[in-house]
Amino acid sequence: ALPVLAIVGRPNVGKSTLVNRILGRREAVTEDKPGVTRDRVSYPGEWAGRNFTLVDTGGWEVDVAGIDARVAEQAEVAISLSDAVVFVVDATVGITDTDERVMRLLRRAGKPVVLCANKVDGASGEADALVLWNLGLGEPYPVSSLHGRGVGDLLDAAMKVL
Ligand code: GDP
Ligand code: MG
Repeated sequence: ALPVLAIVGRPNVGKSTLVNRILGRREAVTEDKPGVTRDRVSYPGEWAGRNFTLVDTGGWEVDVAGIDARVAEQAEVAISLSDAVVFVVDATVGITDTDERVMRLLRRAGKPVVLCANKVDGASGEADALVLWNLGLGEPYPVSSLHGRGVGDLLDAAMKVL
């Protein structure tokens, strides 16, 4: 079976946008509003001659009081089924409680993690990415999933641990 690369993170950080960028087409469902009910979705991915299964995560529900718990639950399942994880954080927002919750799950799981500092659309956002060193998950890769900036470096790093 192909190695599995899971894209995890709280709602609205740009996971599905990143998946679409990696696939080079629009397949993953992106939403302006967080909380679309959807299960994990797998796609065939390819980078630098490597084939892998790319997993977009979601699966939480709208208007659920325990949305954080659901994000964590989904992330936990995806992490357990993966060989490596891209953890997506919205660099323009910074580290939230939910991000920290996912970070703890990742630490516990012990799977290789590549940290995506998303929504760094221009050079002025690079400083926002540096703040994410505080997660203790290693180097944050500044990425704009929307425009493609930095996605190549992120994938190169992911292929090294997958
Ligand atoms: P998900 O819930 O984590 O899957 O997030 P989505 O991929 O659905 O994206 C949520 C919102 O963030 C959408 O409005 C995207 O267009 C926006 N978004 C995603 N990536 C970027 C980015 O790199 N830069 C900016 N400015 N917006 C982004
Ligand atoms: Mg999504």
